[in-house]
Amino acid sequence: MARIAVIGLVGKSMFFEVPRFHTGGETIHATGLHEEWGGKGFNQAVMAARQGAAVAFLGAVYASDMKPLKDFCSKEGFRAVLAAKKDATACAAILTDGTGETRVTVYPGAALSARDVDGFALKIATADILLLNNEVPEAVNIAALKIAVKHTVKVIFNPAPARELPKTIRDAVSIWTPNEFEESALGAVAGEVVTTLGACGCRIRSTGEIIPAPSVRAVDTTGAGDTFNGVLAVRLAEGDTLVNACRAANEAAARSTTVRYVLGVPSSGTRAWRDRTVS
Ligand code: ADP
Repeated sequence: MARIAVIGLVGKSMFFEVPRFHTGGETIHATGLHEEWGGKGFNQAVMAARQGAAVAFLGAVYASDMKPLKDFCSKEGFRAVLAAKKDATACAAILTDGTGETRVTVYPGAALSARDVDGFALKIATADILLLNNEVPEAVNIAALKIAVKHTVKVIFNPAPARELPKTIRDAVSIWTPNEFEESALGAVAGEVVTTLGACGCRIRSTGEIIPAPSVRAVDTTGAGDTFNGVLAVRLAEGDTLVNACRAANEAAARSTTVRYVLGVPSSGTRAWRDRTVS
C-alpha cells in the first residue's frame, strides 16, 4: 500500500453561490451555501486516501475543531496529526458566480510551526512520498524536507500559492507541480516539473510532453489541482511511470471538475471511490 505524508493548511471552506460578483460597496444575497473542510494539503490528503493509500496528514486547528476534524478524517480512512492552536482555525470564503468563475478569500488562522513537524517525523521518514505546498510557513516545509532528505523520501511540492522559495527548498524536491501562473514564478529549481494546464492537462518539463486531460463539462474547477496532486502522489508511490501517473491524475482531476465543491460527501469506501474516479 502506498504511504503518503501530507503537510498543509486545514480549515473551513464556505462556498457561496452568487448571481454575480460585487461592485463597489454592494451587498449581495447568496443563492446557495455549502460548507466543508478544505485547504490545499488537506484536500490532497483526502484525495490520496480515496485512492486507497495509507495517508498521514499534519495540520493545525483551534482546539475545539480537533474532534470533528479527526472524526471526518477517520471516516475518510486516514490519520490526521493535529496541532492545537489558540488562533481560530483557517477559513475560506469561495464565491462562485453564475458562469462558474470564483473569487476566493482565505483567512489562514491557526498556523503550524517547525516544532510541530517533530511529532510527524516518523510519518515522513516511513512514507513513500511527502507532499508539500506553500499554504504553510516556509520553516515548516524546510523542517519537513530535512527529514525527507535524511530518509531519502521522495518529495512532491505543489508551489501554490506562488511565493519565492529559498535554495534549501529549491534543491531538495523531486517533482514540482505548479499551474501555469505558479510555474512562471518558480524560477530555477532542481527536479522534474509537471505543470498543470487546466483543461489542456499537464506538461512534463524534461521531455516537453503534454499529457491531455479528458474533455469534460466542467462546472467547478475549485480544487482540481489538489485532486491532481493527491492522485499523482499515490500513482508514483505505487511505482507507475511519471507519464502514467500524470494520465491518472488528469483523469481524476478532470472528473472532479464535473461536480460542485471539492470533497463532497465522505466516501463510503476507498476502493469504491477510486473505481468511480479513475478508470
Ligand atoms: P489549479 O486548479 O491548481 O490552478 P489547473 O487549473 O491547471 O490547476 O488544473 C489542474 C488539473 O485539473 C489539470 O491538469 C487537469 O488535469 C484538470 N482540469 C482543470 N480544469 C479542467 C477542465 N476544464 N477540463 C478538464 N480537466 C481540467
